[in-house]
Amino acid sequence: MAGKTLARDHQFQNIPNTPYWWQSRETVRPEDAASVDGSYDVAVIGSGYTGLSAAYRLASGGLSVLVIDAEDLGFGASTRNGGMVSGTLKLSHKELCAAYDRDTANALFQEAQDSVLFLERSIAEKGIACDYQRMGMYFAAYAPKHYDALAHEAEELAALGVETQMVPQGAQRGELASDIYYGGRTTVMAGGLHPAKYHAGLVAACRAAGVEFRSRCRVQRTARQGGGYVLSTDRGSVRADQVIVATNAYTDPGMPWFRRRVIPIGSYIIATEQMDPMDLRALIPAARMIQDTKRNLFYYRLSPDGTRMIFGGRTSFRPISSDESAARLHAAMSTVFPSLGKARVEHSWTGNVAFTFQKLPHVGQHEGIHFALGCCGQGVALMSYFGDCIGGRILGRGAETAFARTRFTTMPGYAGHPWFLPVVGEFYRLLDWLERPKS
Ligand SMILES: Cc1cc2nc3c(=O)[nH]c(=O)nc-3n(C[C@H](O)[C@H](O)[C@H](O)COP(=O)(O)OP(=O)(O)OC[C@H]3O[C@@H](n4cnc5c(N)ncnc54)[C@H](O)[C@@H]3O)c2cc1C
Repeated sequence: MAGKTLARDHQFQNIPNTPYWWQSRETVRPEDAASVDGSYDVAVIGSGYTGLSAAYRLASGGLSVLVIDAEDLGFGASTRNGGMVSGTLKLSHKELCAAYDRDTANALFQEAQDSVLFLERSIAEKGIACDYQRMGMYFAAYAPKHYDALAHEAEELAALGVETQMVPQGAQRGELASDIYYGGRTTVMAGGLHPAKYHAGLVAACRAAGVEFRSRCRVQRTARQGGGYVLSTDRGSVRADQVIVATNAYTDPGMPWFRRRVIPIGSYIIATEQMDPMDLRALIPAARMIQDTKRNLFYYRLSPDGTRMIFGGRTSFRPISSDESAARLHAAMSTVFPSLGKARVEHSWTGNVAFTFQKLPHVGQHEGIHFALGCCGQGVALMSYFGDCIGGRILGRGAETAFARTRFTTMPGYAGHPWFLPVVGEFYRLLDWLERPKS
């Protein structure tokens, strides 16, 4: 409600609702608008990191590949995200051990960590200029008990060989010039990139490897025919021996089995106007990626050129306008950094994150169709890695990922419309409020 009022009477009206990153977006090519026909070894539905990584691996392995996207290439989360690269999962190692046997838990944990190394190798091998830097991440404790939990987890992580460092509240200003947190923890194996430049680099690498694209072309139906599949689109039909579904939180009703297993949750981001980089750097001295430990968390960072604050969070579990989310995020940013209270917002956008009922992604096959879905908001490195895994599986090379062993179930009555989110969101907000010490 406060956000709505602010949006009405303040500076937040008519802010561009496109991602700040789209200034460096892949340009539309006329050939991507061609009709859809013919026959390919593999058809990929979705042109985000998952689809592109799979397509690149397959085309480099000598297969003919067509990538189809319902919108412009990279319309989904892959050009809307925060650009934070980390090898973490929604579930901690302890929670993984509670849900799976220890070998599986260890394998899931380790693969997630290694996905960062995969991403770094991939960027280097393809020569993608996407401002990637491994500067680490800082988890800011929102409550004293969150700091204790971070410290406890740090011991578990050390036993698993993961380098972290606890930062007590008194020393926090070396990481974050904010007084609202109770200390935090750094992790080294993390970094930041420019999401749209990374995406454009993947598209370029795919084109160079011979991948064909069709954009603004929705796949309406996929049916088995002979030994392969026929994909019907609004611009014709195409045959493929293998199909990959890489639609994540944008999975539409035409793919009901997949849609029933994915919970799309809106995440909102703002980018401020350009400011003095020295002033901004003083707020995040090590220029790390920042996440707080709330359930309804905030995540923020400096833009790769250091001139803007990029600030995101789940400010609403109901769809809201970009003006309203701008107002809410600006208010939150000003609480974290009071000195940004007068900073103008120049971009305010949203995108869908794909959660699963198990809070873990899954890589698998359904009726022979390959898929990787459900990154739970941590897909820059992971989904890129999963795409490559699917490519490797189709080529018959490389080991199976442990994420083929995660459960991927749905809930009775759920068809892809998460009606329960506003209730869950309010419950989380209450828990966050209860855990925060009252002054
Ligand atoms: C606001 C936001 C912030 C995030 N921040 C981070 C972050 O900082 N770090 C991190 O690791 N992760 C982050 N994520 C998650 C990350 O962006 C995703 O995990 C990742 O981009 C998913 O890639 P993808 O290729 O699987 O899906 P997407 O990039 O979402 O691509 C799916 C594509 O499928 C297409 N599609 C859907 N249906 C059809 C159809 N029927 N026919 C043809 N095409 C179709 C869509 O148009 C879309 O382009 C964030 C996500 C959001 C939304």
